[in-house]
Amino acid sequence: MKLDGSCHCGKVRFSVESYGPVPYMRCYCSICRKTAGSGGYGINLSGQFDTLRIHGGEHAKSYQVEKRLTEHGAGAPEGEPSSALRAYCVACGTALWVYSPEWPELVHPFAGVIDTELPTPPETVHIMLDYKAPWVEVPSGAGHTHFPAYPEESLEAWHRRHGLWEGPE
Ligand SMILES: [Zn+2]
Ligand SMILES: [Zn+2]
Repeated sequence: MKLDGSCHCGKVRFSVESYGPVPYMRCYCSICRKTAGSGGYGINLSGQFDTLRIHGGEHAKSYQVEKRLTEHGAGAPEGEPSSALRAYCVACGTALWVYSPEWPELVHPFAGVIDTELPTPPETVHIMLDYKAPWVEVPSGAGHTHFPAYPEESLEAWHRRHGLWEGPE
């Protein structure tokens, strides 16, 4: 599924091919909730890094390693093995995606910046609950699964289990 995304002011636009486009996982860690989720959590989607196309990349920077983004390349520095880069628009501050050099084939756009209509998740997974802000209420009951930290299951495995994987077998 091709996802189109943009920041709020529109200076940065991008598209990326996603094999796992369901916005099912809410991360309550301090990084996600501060940079990409005032509701107390962020939602990352799975995208194929080599399909990421950025327009207006000169208006984007990445947080953690200060670096301008190129039209195709997302500013991933050589030799930075473990630091995730969180891209944002310098004009309006919108958080756009996170790229981790540890998984160089993937990029994770934040669900909130996607303009394409996303599928509705059949289940919501709540992760990093040990790090959530105390005021945040987490839904429970049928259709909600909870983890104190990271789950074992990857974004890909979750999509496959639900028959929602759109990538190669
Ligand atoms: Zn912007
Ligand atoms: Zn997080």
